[in-house]
Amino acid sequence: MKIEKVIEELKKIKAKRVFIQYPEGIKRNILKYAKILQENSIEPVMCLESTYGACDVREYEAKLLKCDALLHVGHEDFGVKTEIPIFYVDWFIEANPLICLEKNFDKIKKYQNIGLVTSVQFIHMMKPVREWLENHNKKTFSYTHQQYEGQMLGCRVQAGKKIEDNVDCFLCIGAGKFYGLGLALETNKPMLNLDIEMNKIHDMKDIVNKINKITAWNLEVVKDSKTIGFLITWKKGQMFGSPFIIKKKLEDMGKNVYVFAMDEMTIQKLDFLKVDALVSFGCPRISTDDLEKYKIPIINFTELIKNNIFKK
Ligand code: SF4
Repeated sequence: MKIEKVIEELKKIKAKRVFIQYPEGIKRNILKYAKILQENSIEPVMCLESTYGACDVREYEAKLLKCDALLHVGHEDFGVKTEIPIFYVDWFIEANPLICLEKNFDKIKKYQNIGLVTSVQFIHMMKPVREWLENHNKKTFSYTHQQYEGQMLGCRVQAGKKIEDNVDCFLCIGAGKFYGLGLALETNKPMLNLDIEMNKIHDMKDIVNKINKITAWNLEVVKDSKTIGFLITWKKGQMFGSPFIIKKKLEDMGKNVYVFAMDEMTIQKLDFLKVDALVSFGCPRISTDDLEKYKIPIINFTELIKNNIFKK
């Protein structure tokens, strides 16, 4: 939603104070929307805690500070239900992806059919990238699964999966590896990550192989573990699976399971736990990205289900 529309909606509900959440990457611009709210006689309260996605909604804190609504910047509605109204406002990153394409064309040259994916902050780059590729005799494919064509979330990669059979490779437009890696882990097709910030295109094959190897190893550790820590978060949009049902199943297999609950899951919070392995029920990317940094082997609960470890 554009900020002008959000202001209209805030006026309709007579909002006097609004709690604003920004993703890390755009926090340096945190005053931009605050000023617009002030100009419209609405008091902004800016959250300096991390915000990882539209799944990360701080309704409790907003209510505590007597805010009438939440404003989530740079994310799209994830379907999290809240008691106070929540508005999602667009934030598009300005940069020219064609400079990166021209510089790194040799990485793409050998592929003919290219699947285009991105995240919401880069959605406006889909059109120029597609046109550029087609002008270089490539065929492009995309699919709309979220709000915009080609748009994925870190844990929702259907925009890529739906076109997987048509393409020779994927090209993910973004900054950093987060979104491209999400799809790379779910497909056998090559994933090329166009990183606007680094002005580079990376093939994600090596990193995917590394993550898959560590995950397979960690799963074996969980199977052999006597004592397992379950990780859950109380962030409304990051509560996945049925931890207490799975806990019972593992206990029936003779394992000790302890449940650890927290707001934000960070590696530092987990290092001191005296357990053999960890199973995460939070954001699925916690147990895939940066796996080598965890001192205790960790997997996502979906690995237990996929590999049907409860049979034994
Ligand atoms: S990947 Fe994690 S942070 Fe991103 S939307 Fe999904 S649950 Fe939220």
